[in-house]
Amino acid sequence: MIQHLQHKIFKCISECADELGLETYVIGGYVRDVLLKRKEPKDIDIVCVGSGIELAKKVAHKLHGKPKVQVFKNFGTAMLNHKDLEIEFVGARKESYQKDSRKPSVENGSLEDDQNRRDFTINTLALCLNKHRFGELLDPFNGISDLEKGIIRTPLDPDITYSDDPLRMMRAVRFATQLNFTIEQSSIEAIERNAKRLEIISQERIIDELNKIILAQTPSKGFKILFNTKLLHQFFPEFVELYGVEVIKGKKHKDNFYHTLEVLENLSKNTDNLWLRWAALLHDIAKPETKRFEEGHGWTFHGHEFIGSKMVPIIFKRLKLPLNEKMKYVQKLVLLHLRPIVLSKDFISDSALRRLLFDAGEDLEDLMLLCEADITSKNEKKVKRFLNNFQIVRQKLKDIEELDHIRNWQPPISGALIMNTFDIQPGKIVGEIKNQIREAILDGIIPNEYDKAYNYMLEKGKEQGLEKQ
Ligand code: ATP
Ligand code: MG
Repeated sequence: MIQHLQHKIFKCISECADELGLETYVIGGYVRDVLLKRKEPKDIDIVCVGSGIELAKKVAHKLHGKPKVQVFKNFGTAMLNHKDLEIEFVGARKESYQKDSRKPSVENGSLEDDQNRRDFTINTLALCLNKHRFGELLDPFNGISDLEKGIIRTPLDPDITYSDDPLRMMRAVRFATQLNFTIEQSSIEAIERNAKRLEIISQERIIDELNKIILAQTPSKGFKILFNTKLLHQFFPEFVELYGVEVIKGKKHKDNFYHTLEVLENLSKNTDNLWLRWAALLHDIAKPETKRFEEGHGWTFHGHEFIGSKMVPIIFKRLKLPLNEKMKYVQKLVLLHLRPIVLSKDFISDSALRRLLFDAGEDLEDLMLLCEADITSKNEKKVKRFLNNFQIVRQKLKDIEELDHIRNWQPPISGALIMNTFDIQPGKIVGEIKNQIREAILDGIIPNEYDKAYNYMLEKGKEQGLEKQ
């Protein structure tokens, strides 16, 4: 194991631990990730039998540049940053839980007590740092074997582990997704039994884990586990609603739950943008609400893009996702997600292209990625044809953009100019005239030029009984 402790920092911690006479280990995520050769982990958790704060202070003192130690007295932990590493020190502890809180009461304990309180066997692995035992592995729960077999298993009875801290259920799904591991059956059953206890977890913690699932390589794996264990039902009922197929008169619609996950999966191959992935998750979110069966026609979901975009802020607010421009971006993509499809089917007019360029602006490329991911037909010929159509749309958009520069465009006539010209106060009429000018340019009635737009403004003003002052 010594090969995994090459980093200079471990030598320094080792010396300090020996000087203080503290039994000291590197534990948890760091050990797991180096053994998996996942990535060079940037956060290191150090546990010692004794005062973690004292050890942290000594290490900081010895390090070049003497980094500042942040002490969290209440938790008995200390943290320091060294180069690009974030190192946390804690004294080994024993925990006991009350039913209504995930905050345990804590007392000092042995290393074994500390390993017992951890969430999964693969997260309990500890490597000793003291000189005479340097690199010795402590693995009381066969975590190494689970790491090799790809199994998520709790060190103690899973019902106790999950009930004590229900966030661990989300973590289980997250690790299974990130590492492509399997959650062992008894653990899955315990999650099903304890899913309701997620209610004592703050939404911020839940969404942290969910976002990590969404950012994984195959996020749909996580969503299927969340759904099957009913964890998803606890915090994201709108998404659960997408599940299922209805049949009327022998006609069925597709299962929008699995369709959405397929879209997310397709898209994830082409982007790591969390918010674009969120747009995929929400693009059909209003399908259940807008679903109708129309005689002679079959299933329709009229306006689901519009209703869906209205649902975005509501969902973001409840899930404690940011209510800023990220939310607006997701909203915009949900609203526009059918537009390129319409364009690829019909005869494409220049004005329709200009409108899409104007409405999508700088997010056009992301919108196209979403639309391409939205093709989930099993018929390969169809998929090819749709993708080809999108290629044509892309090319036409490019051509018209080169001609008109509509993307990121501001109409040439401002509200202020309208008010000045006609000497009127701010009000509905100003907005109306501004809109009419914009629409006329997008429709190609007038060119995108100041003089033409100015004359058009005078004309439209006249229709409202306004004269140039
Ligand atoms: P990552 O850094 O990729 O999120 P990690 O396993 O390092 O994964 P951290 O949140 O950094 O996760 O926690 C470090 C270690 O602390 C874990 O490996 C685990 O041993 C322990 N741990 C973290 N959260 C919990 C929890 N809710 N219950 C029990 N043990 C936990
Ligand atoms: Mg970590």
